[in-house]
Amino acid sequence: MSESAKPESERRKFRAIKGTRDILPPDSALWNWFENTARSVMESYNFGEIRTPIFEETGLFARSVGLSTDIVSKEMYEFDLHASDAVHTSRLLYFESRSALRRMGRLYHLVTDLESAWQSNRIEQNDKNKRVIDELRSIYDALFRDLADDKALANADGTPEIMRLFYRASDLMLEIDIAQHVVLRPEATASVVRAYVEHRLDTRPGDQKLYYIGPMFRRERPQKGRYRQFYQIGAEVLGASDAPAIDAELIEMLTVLLERCQIEKYTLLINSIGCANCRPAYVELLRAELRKPEIFERLGADSKRRVEANPLRVMDSKLPEEQEIIEKLPKISQHLCDDCKTHYEKLKRELALRKVPFTESPRLVRGLDYYMRTTFEITSPILGAQNALCGGGRYDGLVELLGGPKGIKGIGFALGEDRFIDAIQEAKKVHATRTADVFIAWMGENAYPAAVRLARVLRDAKHVVELPPAEMKFRKALERADKAGARYALIIGDDEIASKQLTIKHLADGQQRKIAEDELVNYFGSKRN
Ligand code: AMP
Repeated sequence: MSESAKPESERRKFRAIKGTRDILPPDSALWNWFENTARSVMESYNFGEIRTPIFEETGLFARSVGLSTDIVSKEMYEFDLHASDAVHTSRLLYFESRSALRRMGRLYHLVTDLESAWQSNRIEQNDKNKRVIDELRSIYDALFRDLADDKALANADGTPEIMRLFYRASDLMLEIDIAQHVVLRPEATASVVRAYVEHRLDTRPGDQKLYYIGPMFRRERPQKGRYRQFYQIGAEVLGASDAPAIDAELIEMLTVLLERCQIEKYTLLINSIGCANCRPAYVELLRAELRKPEIFERLGADSKRRVEANPLRVMDSKLPEEQEIIEKLPKISQHLCDDCKTHYEKLKRELALRKVPFTESPRLVRGLDYYMRTTFEITSPILGAQNALCGGGRYDGLVELLGGPKGIKGIGFALGEDRFIDAIQEAKKVHATRTADVFIAWMGENAYPAAVRLARVLRDAKHVVELPPAEMKFRKALERADKAGARYALIIGDDEIASKQLTIKHLADGQQRKIAEDELVNYFGSKRN
């Protein structure tokens, strides 16, 4: 039975994939309001928007975010851009084949697979691949001629010339760019820095102040406030200076956004995690401490693993039984070099100057490898378990690490849009719902063309207009207008057409008045800029 012939209860229904969700009206209006507010705050600090692709090479995140982080080691959605599995398999089979004749058969499959993968764009259509495929084809043709010779077939390995061709074919096969591994971006700082390097933004005058808005993807365990597709808004400042005023201004900007959203209950945590000069010694000290049997034995499995891989991250642990141990571990703030200490002191003064209240948190190390010196996080008690609204920090070496010029410094943050929206809804102070300004209640064949025309006139003046597609009795239309939350009903029936006077009903108080058509826009006021 076809799917549409089945009763509704038996038809397969599709649902959004676990960890993803739909954002529907009226909530989407709040999302739009929030994004517009964030844009206007960031633009008032002279940030410009950057839009980068949703997927990037796997290596970009492995190099920047770090291999030992959860994001890279466990949470990335990775795929082969060209899905060239067939080519991959036939290459393996070729390398496994022992006799000349076998190898010949495998080579035949490989060459035809490669040619069809090339044609259907399942392997990268670049010059190198073209050259390799052409040469493999000519090797196959040459071998085919030689192996047709009985003497060559008698010899399991083939003649020395045949062997040479097989060796050459093996070398060529290793040159093919079979797969291009890409991931759905788990965060955007690496992408922004990649774009900065790629487009030589360092040659533009002054610091580059960039912001982005968009979805990120992490294969985390879904729960309230934690999704597999979630949305971040972030900002980055890239340039030659690492002045603490830059860090402070960025943080101040975030507090302005919180204020506009009327989120009052939040804490700004700050810390300095040192630099390449002072951090390694501290990390060693920490590792030595954590290796002590009386401490090591009391750690959970994740932390035990991190002692060797990335001991700093033990500080991040939320496991209740580890908290007492962590409190007693040496603090990075006591091991900063003079430059880092000065930078941190100045940051605190700069924040005070801007009247931004903060709490120092020696445990705030942040999860990603590229951070150094300033780190910060904003948490809110109104959010429950996933209480981090936003996190960020300085990453002075990242541009160079990703192949860019030396000496370019960077700092940025990313805020979780999903959680900001939750916080705004919890705070219940900002209401951003959008309803129709005008509902057009029309009745009769003569009224319809006027309704269509006037809907357009009002929409051109930026009013939100609901025009029912089919005729409705006035009583029903007015009920519908009321339910939809419209402010006015514009009534057009035979009487209105005959008298050339429209009826406007104010839905809040039921007041009605008549106006001429050319007064319409004036009556509502034009919202056009
Ligand atoms: P991070 O990039 O991990 O520093 O995260 C920055 C912010 O993004 C966090 O403070 C959260 O608000 C938000 N965030 C991170 N992961 C998720 C997730 N899986 N779901 C929802 N929001 C997230």
